[in-house]
Formats: sequence, structure tokens, C-alpha cells
Amino acid sequence: ETRVRFCPSPTGTPHVGMVRTALFNWAYAKHTGGKLIFRIEDTDAARDSEESFNQVLESLQWLGINWDEGVGVGGPHEPYRQSERMDIYAEVVEKLKAGGYVYEDFSTPEEVEERHKAKGEDPKLGYDNFDRNLTEDQKAAYRAEGRQPVLRLRMPDTDITFNDLVRGEITFKAGSVPDFVVVRANGKPLYTLVNPVDDALMGITHVLRGEDLLSSTPRQVALYRALVEVGVTSFIPEFGHMPYVMGQGNKKLSKRDPESSLYNLLDAGFIKEGLLNYLSLLGWSLSHDEDIFTMDTMVKHFDIADVLANPARFDLKKAEAINGTHVRMLEAEDFRNRLVPFLHKAELVSADDFEALTEREQQILTEAAPLVQERMQLLGETPGLLGFLFKKEEDIEIAPDAAKQLKESAPAVLDAAIAALEGLETFTAESIQDALREAIVEGLEIKPRLAFGPVRTAISGERISPPLFESMEILGKDSSLARLKKLAA
Ligand code: GLU
Repeated sequence: ETRVRFCPSPTGTPHVGMVRTALFNWAYAKHTGGKLIFRIEDTDAARDSEESFNQVLESLQWLGINWDEGVGVGGPHEPYRQSERMDIYAEVVEKLKAGGYVYEDFSTPEEVEERHKAKGEDPKLGYDNFDRNLTEDQKAAYRAEGRQPVLRLRMPDTDITFNDLVRGEITFKAGSVPDFVVVRANGKPLYTLVNPVDDALMGITHVLRGEDLLSSTPRQVALYRALVEVGVTSFIPEFGHMPYVMGQGNKKLSKRDPESSLYNLLDAGFIKEGLLNYLSLLGWSLSHDEDIFTMDTMVKHFDIADVLANPARFDLKKAEAINGTHVRMLEAEDFRNRLVPFLHKAELVSADDFEALTEREQQILTEAAPLVQERMQLLGETPGLLGFLFKKEEDIEIAPDAAKQLKESAPAVLDAAIAALEGLETFTAESIQDALREAIVEGLEIKPRLAFGPVRTAISGERISPPLFESMEILGKDSSLARLKKLAA
């Protein structure tokens, strides 16, 4: 059985790279009929936060990336938060010590540097494996000085080679990776220890993660070999490193880039279908000519072997276009309901859930949503497009660009429109259109292209709006006339 894991550290807010990692692991688990294990790597008390932990959980749930074992759902390897697994690590460390795979290092950084200098080497070369063979007497002497050792894993004296599922065979030369710290002097185990230990204990078969972690893989393979020797596990997982995601100016997308923040993308109005579709293209593709697909389709076709090693490019414009396609694919009612939080946040409606809106708000939104579904890429456009329908006449403000394009003929157009509409008995898009056409295009002999601009501006306050006559029908005769009169005055 395939067992993959998603194991973020709860630092900062969720970002694109993190979601891509979760998505690819999820898709691979689903594709293979395996399991996704969700573990939280919160062993760095100084950087981890409960807020970040909750945000990770909330985002996965919101995106519909569900897991089979782990935080919140339990499973055979509880607990799934590393901060609650300290006893387990202590036990494993004892086994590694007994087997001679880890040793105590008493050297200070200054001493390491001095030794490099004495040999004519770069002092910043890193740890020199000096303490590998200390005698018991030497250790006792250091202890007597009050020194507390860190524990280091002994790297093998041979090359370390593994077959990366994305990149192919990778070799780290013997001696190129120094022995590394697994437990701090204060007894706290580090990522370098607890991540492979948990992968081993949880039976992870495939470690799929970002390229930034590639340099830690030889260390993890070495530790894994030791874990096999001491009987903690019986096998070493396969590794696959997903490509970097590049942002603007071909620089690596950073957690600090605003467009990489998941919450920013959601606030802008990405829907999960569109965002997941786009993120799945960061290192993978369905085919040359199919950019748009659902997660069911992705799951059906996703294989790690098809992930590309080349850096991926995060292109916000393309992401928005893909999102727009998914917006158009939504069922009308679903689309309508998803607009409500955006209107509520802009203080245009009374609640953030469709069912909780007033009857009038529900009616306006139900009639207006179909007018904009085809022309929206991000749901964040909703207040700008539909806000005027929920505002009172007195709150309609004329946007500067709309005001600027009002021609000299505007007052006459508005007067004619008012006169024509006042006499209308049935106030439907069709009857409105007919009446305005007759009054303005024919009556005033103004070209259709220019005829309705002032009316649109009066009604919406904007130069561009959803279809005008339908909007007026939704607003009703009184409100439409009041808006026309306000601009005419
Ligand atoms: N907690 C690590 C991180 O967030 C996970 C690394 C890994 O996937 O091995 O970077």
C-alpha cells in the first residue's frame, strides 16, 4: 500500500508551495488507492504557532484535500503532532546510541573553525567530524568542564545514491555531507531526526516534497539505514522532489510574496476548483493542450513519474483565467451562493450566507448572478459588478471614469429616459429596452453605441456594468427612476 504524507511546520500562513505539496501527495494517494497521512511538525517552539496550525487545517479542509490518517482524524500511529511524540523520539535515540550510529559532540563552533584554519581550510566549512572517536575519558573531561554535547549521526564513508522519482539517480559523494546534529545539547530532537523517524514509524513509502529539501535527503537516507539496522523499520522510502515555483522576475516564489499567500488568493476570489487546477500545473500537466480539468481527472491521471524537474512558473494572470473558466462551470445556484461572502464583506448585504439574506437580497442576487457569471474571473469582482443593485439610490456614487465620459447630450438623454420610463406599465428588460430605444435612439437621434451611456452611469455609477436593461428590471421602476433623476438633477 502506498503511504504518503503531508507534514508542514506550522509557521506563517499557508502559501502556494505548501498547498502544491499537499495537493500532489493527496492526488498520488488517491491515484494509487493509498493513504495520505497528515502530520504536524511542531518541534520548533520558537517559530511554531497555534494560529498557523489552525490555518493549515482550515485551508486543507476548505480546499477539500482530505487525509486518511493524522491530526483530527486519528489513526494507528497517534499522536500525529510531533510535539506530543517526544517519548517516542527518546526511545529511538537510545537505540541509535546503543548501535553506535550517533555520537556525542562537545566541540564549540569556534573550536571547529580553529581546526579548519590550522589545516589551511575554509573555517566555515562546517563540522569536521572531530568528536567521532572520543574516548570515555575525553568525554568525561569535557563534562567536567560543564559542556553539554549535541548528538550527531555518523555519516557513512561511502557515496549515498538514491533514485529520485522526479530527477532520477542522485549521488552525494562520500565525505561531502558532514555528520549532522540530531539532538540539541538541551535534549531537544531536531527536524533532521524526527522527520525520518516518523516517516519510518508511520510506514511512509513515498516522500514527495519540495526541491528545497533535496539537500537533506542524503542525511535522511543515512539515518534511515541506521533505523533499519536497529529495527525501527524494515525499508527506506522512495523520494521525489517537486520543482521550485518561480514568481515574478524569475525569482523563487517566496512565502513573503503576497501572491503566494493562500488567504490572499482566496480573498481575491479564487474558487477552490480553479485554484487547485492551477496549482496542479506547477510541475505537472495533464496533456499539452488541456489546461482545464477537475480534481477527479487529475487524480485519475496523476503519477509522480510525470512530475517535471524544471522549475515551474507561478503566473497569476494564467491562474485567474483558469479560475474564470471554473467559475463559468459552476451550477447557477452554487455560483450565486458563493458570491454572498464577498458582498457581505463589502457591507452590501446583511449576511454572509445566502439562506440568511433578506428576501429582497435573495431575489436580487438570484436574478443578478446569471448576468455576471460569464464575465467574472475572480469572485472578488462581485462588489464592483453587483454592488449597485444592493445600494440605495442616495449611495450611488458616480465613478470618475464614468463621469468623464458623459457627453453634452447627457442631460437630454436622461430627461428623455425618465419621460419614457415613467409611462411604462410593465417594467421588464424588454419593455425598458424598447422604450429607451424609441426615446433616445429614435427620438434624439443618438447612435445606439452612445445612447445608453448616461443611463448606465445613472443606474450603476459605473462606465461598465452588467447588462443594463436586466439590471434595471431587477432594481424595479421606482429605484431606476430615482437614480436617473438623481443624475439628471
Ligand atoms: N516540516 C517540513 C517542512 O515543512 C517537512 C519537510 C518534509 O516534507 O520532509 O518543511
